Amino acid sequence: MQEKWNKRPLIISGPCSAETEEQVLETAVALAKTGKVDMLRAGIWKPRTKPGLFEGIGTRGLPWLLQAKKITGLPTTVEVATAKHVEDALQFDVDVLWLGARTTVNPFSVQEVADALRGVDIPVLIKNPIHPDLELWSGGIERLQKVGMQQVGMIHRGFSSYGNTDFRNAPMWHLPIEMKRRFPDMLLICDPSHICGNRTLLQGIAQKSIDLDFGGLMLESHIDPDNAWSDAKQQITPERLSEMLDALVWRFENSNEKEFITALATLREQINQVDDELLTLLGQRMKIADKIGSYKKENNITILQTNRWNNILERAFLKGEALGLSKEFITRYFDAVHLESISHQNKVMNSPL
Ligand code: PEP
Ligand code: MN
Repeated sequence: MQEKWNKRPLIISGPCSAETEEQVLETAVALAKTGKVDMLRAGIWKPRTKPGLFEGIGTRGLPWLLQAKKITGLPTTVEVATAKHVEDALQFDVDVLWLGARTTVNPFSVQEVADALRGVDIPVLIKNPIHPDLELWSGGIERLQKVGMQQVGMIHRGFSSYGNTDFRNAPMWHLPIEMKRRFPDMLLICDPSHICGNRTLLQGIAQKSIDLDFGGLMLESHIDPDNAWSDAKQQITPERLSEMLDALVWRFENSNEKEFITALATLREQINQVDDELLTLLGQRMKIADKIGSYKKENNITILQTNRWNNILERAFLKGEALGLSKEFITRYFDAVHLESISHQNKVMNSPL
């Protein structure tokens, strides 16, 4: 097991959920046949947003995983969220445990799992929490380390966010990169399946993580993805997985290049975040303009009041100068903002009540 855990890149695959014995065994055999997978995953207990959805097959799925291991030689990994899960998984010789995103958000649960693991020698992977909070993620790692866990790794599965429509969970690459900075020797793998939420984006996200020097991948696979009981849209067949892995380019042998790529990605991601914030703020600014528009309408005042505008510009020049922004830029920027604002007010003032 030690050997497999230390393999780089570490490739983990298997169904989102264990559904039936046949499904687990067939998937495992097909994955083993590719010769490219190091570990078999399967969710046994599934945390679902709403009751009534498939909540996992439970403990009775564990013997199927043990059987899959016997047939294929692949070590197994499952998600645990309670002390009882840990106890059951250990009883059925699960080789690696992982904590899911919904567990990492809750220090009570992480501590419960950590306490159940005290004195046990088993690798544990911890997914990032659902929302972008690195302290919770590193806090979870520390809780595991504090009870004596020696082999802890991280899984990046993206972060929930408003306004990002391409992904189920936005990758926010600068966050896992920051975790790598905090825990330089710790295994960090990427879970493109839960980042993408669909099949089309998987390859690109997997490639990006490799370019950022991640230590492996966790990808969901299923013998019949369209009919999977959970996360059907994002799962792929073992054959497709094999093609995907073949198409990945493990480039940048040179560590200087790797550092450069990583630094560039961090900075670009920071720019994306700032741009998003700027746009959100501009949207808020226009909403305020709308409000002003309706007051002016009620009170019969013109939209443009020259004094007020000069005032705004003067303030901005002063502030901009201190921030290293040229007068020319400030003028162009405020002209654009002003025009948009006037057009908003115009709409409000000329709309029928
Ligand atoms: C999973 O791996 O199937 C899972 C539930 O993932 P996450 O915790 O990332 O949502
Ligand atoms: Mn899943």
